[in-house]
Amino acid sequence: MQKLPESLSAVVEQLARLPGLGPKSALRAAMTFLKWPVAETRRLGAAIFDLRDHLHLCSSCGAIADNDPCALCSDPGRARDILCVTADWDSLLCIEDSGFYRGQYLILGGLLGVGGDADTERLNLERLDQRMAGGEVREVIMALGTTVEAENTEVFLSARIGRRNPEIRLSRLAQGIPLCSEVKFVDKDTLRQSLKYRQDLK
Ligand SMILES: [Zn+2]
Repeated sequence: MQKLPESLSAVVEQLARLPGLGPKSALRAAMTFLKWPVAETRRLGAAIFDLRDHLHLCSSCGAIADNDPCALCSDPGRARDILCVTADWDSLLCIEDSGFYRGQYLILGGLLGVGGDADTERLNLERLDQRMAGGEVREVIMALGTTVEAENTEVFLSARIGRRNPEIRLSRLAQGIPLCSEVKFVDKDTLRQSLKYRQDLK
């Protein structure tokens, strides 16, 4: 195959690293950029360039946002004494989308593997501890799903929170969520029901 011009191959090389794109589709995408009006291609480049400068990780909940704290955390209309813990940002968006929940969030950043406590450094425990130490939270809802990993994480978190803040109510989404499913794949109505009829953990 003929060698690509350097600037083109640089773009193809980067695009080919994206999930779902191999070298061939990366080349096709790069060629599409070349066919666009120059202003449009530049706008795309600038948007990618700005991504890292303009996006923040909310120091309070861990969500990706325009500002820190994010719009959800700084909304004065939301309850501050109830904290919903999710595995990832997608799950937060799904719960938010169900329109039922008006409290705070915390994104763990993952779940514990079946191996147990060994990989706790994957979780945003520092952020969770900070929220707990803040003294505002009266209830923690675990919205982690019903997979083995979710259950493991729930047990681990319950023990951790229970040990440090025994007065805090711990609950989990009701089992309306189908077995072995992740929160982000559950439909809105089921999520709303699971939140409403959440179960106490102790
Ligand atoms: Zn936030």
